[in-house]
Amino acid sequence: MKEKIIPRCSRCKKVKRIVDFHKGGLKNGRNCWCKKCVSLFYQLKRKEDPQKFRDRQKQWRMKNLEKSKILSRRSQQKVRLLILKAYGNKCVCCGEREEKFLHLDHVNNDGVKHRKKNNLHGGSALYYYAKRNNYPKNLQLLCANCNLAKGHYGKCPHKS
Ligand SMILES: [Zn+2]
Ligand SMILES: [Zn+2]
Ligand SMILES: [Zn+2]
Repeated sequence: MKEKIIPRCSRCKKVKRIVDFHKGGLKNGRNCWCKKCVSLFYQLKRKEDPQKFRDRQKQWRMKNLEKSKILSRRSQQKVRLLILKAYGNKCVCCGEREEKFLHLDHVNNDGVKHRKKNNLHGGSALYYYAKRNNYPKNLQLLCANCNLAKGHYGKCPHKS
């Protein structure tokens, strides 16, 4: 007869639902940590020794290159969509709504300076920055056309 698994977390000692455990976490009916305890544990570790935590993450990424690429692409996409939504999902100049055309733009054309000051490298760094800083007003959404025109001519032809 199969033994019934009681999903009790061996860390917080609470009986939880099966879905509150990571897959494989309840192997052979052994009590393991629930998801909440696992994430609390990692949070603690991170606080204790941030450098070691970062090294671990790096090691994991090196070992799981393909997987980590997919994961980071997914998280980039997620953040991008979040940002687009927070900034109104359309070009502030012409109202273009095609998500693929939209870019984050520095309102005062100080993008280079701003990126340097805040150590923002690469395409998605700005998106993470915006999220971290609660969607600052010095950024706005522009479509590729308006963005390019603004960069080239100082202002978009839509505005003249
Ligand atoms: Zn627990
Ligand atoms: Zn536009
Ligand atoms: Zn425009």
